Amino acid sequence: MDRPGKPDLILLGDVVTADPSRPRAEAVAAAGGRVLALGARAEILALAGPGTRVVDRGGEEILPPFRDAHLHLLPLGRQAGRADLHGLDLDGLRTAVAAHAALHPGEGWVEGAGWSLDALSLGRPPDAADIAGLAGGRPVLLFSHDFHTALVSVEGMALLGMLGDRPPMVPDFDRDRDGRPTGLLREAAVFAAGGAAQAAMTEEDDREAVLAACRGLLARGIAACDDMDGGRTLRALASLRRAGRLPVRVRAAIRPADLAVFERTGLPPRADDGGLRVAGLKVFLDGALGSRTAWMLEPYEDDPGNRGLRTLEPGALEDLARRAAALGLPCFVHAIGDAAVRAALDALEAAAPGLPHRIEHAQCIHPDDLPRFRALGIAASVQPGHMATDIPVADRAWGARGARAFPLRSLLDAGAEVVFGSDAPVEPADPALWIRAAVERTTPDGRPEGGWWPAEKVGRESAVRCTVEAPLSPGAPLPPSTAGRGGAWGEGATS
Ligand SMILES: [Zn+2]
Repeated sequence: MDRPGKPDLILLGDVVTADPSRPRAEAVAAAGGRVLALGARAEILALAGPGTRVVDRGGEEILPPFRDAHLHLLPLGRQAGRADLHGLDLDGLRTAVAAHAALHPGEGWVEGAGWSLDALSLGRPPDAADIAGLAGGRPVLLFSHDFHTALVSVEGMALLGMLGDRPPMVPDFDRDRDGRPTGLLREAAVFAAGGAAQAAMTEEDDREAVLAACRGLLARGIAACDDMDGGRTLRALASLRRAGRLPVRVRAAIRPADLAVFERTGLPPRADDGGLRVAGLKVFLDGALGSRTAWMLEPYEDDPGNRGLRTLEPGALEDLARRAAALGLPCFVHAIGDAAVRAALDALEAAAPGLPHRIEHAQCIHPDDLPRFRALGIAASVQPGHMATDIPVADRAWGARGARAFPLRSLLDAGAEVVFGSDAPVEPADPALWIRAAVERTTPDGRPEGGWWPAEKVGRESAVRCTVEAPLSPGAPLPPSTAGRGGAWGEGATS
């Protein structure tokens, strides 16, 4: 055993600290999973004792532990139980759903996720007839890529009470000219249908799904995350935390439906180690770009007359912000269109100034609103992976307003706090993907050449700073093992 102060591990490599006062180093000394010292190779190697393991990672980068500032752990953990519909046309989708149902026999719901209007390219929204007869009479529920729309089969519509014989379990749904439901659900109805389909899941199923999601995060170097779902996700997180089984530090958002419980009982105390804490109230103010429901100041280029959807009545966000503030909680406001971002800033400024609020997504920001983030102390919680996927859609829907879309450089130049995340399972929880997207501003296959609205590219060190839980500095935790992606810490040991 080394005396306290002796490192048990020294890592050599290209150390990117995300600490502006010392952006790079050649070596890290650590003990008990925490950083002791950073510096030049010789300087750090001089600290080694007889029990110190030295790992030389050559020219490979050593990065701080990552934080995914916006994701959905329970749906992420359940993705394995859903058919993957990303990028499929209707024939591909039908084949994938039928194959998934055959591979997962039973009587319950058959779920899928990932379809988009663009990939289906039907020239019309899909409907229940498109997915008839795929699952041997079992109900089918297929979430769109952004989870803001879902398609439900006629068997599913019957179970959800959409066929008129009993009160519907979903608040609102599309109907055809004859008044029959088409099978297409939007926004709150998607959430309600998802809840109904998952009603048969037990709390143990929930805990296993959350753990599966956490294991995936750790494998990609993510040691901390912000979950956006509250409700049963928070119950599963709290139960895992109590049992000492939560492997990732989680800041959990609650939803408006959870408020009443905490207003009666108060918030659970914060864990000193940051293991789990309730950190904010997640509120939706608009829809999403892909569904043309993001709330815009001006109409969509490819849908004249449509400015998207405001999902809260005027004044409702202010009311929710005051109730959250009474519990000491800031708001995490889902706002994608420039009108939603402006309305969110207005409401938070008026109703609950001074709390560390966040705008989630903030995909399109009017230039007049950029300085308000810093002035109001409101952070922008952005997912660069959405940009990479949505560049072709944004070009069609927003045209020249792409200049104010994902304005990462402008936000940072304006002094705003910017935190990056994935929105998993909508996009993969993989920091390498979103850092690349922020730096290069291209689609996953590298288009357009030179980057999309390249004035808004950010440097790699800035992108890493928006992605870390804390900089690598003395006392800070080391990143989790990166086993499976470039080797575990133990590989390449020189002594
Ligand atoms: Zn989300």
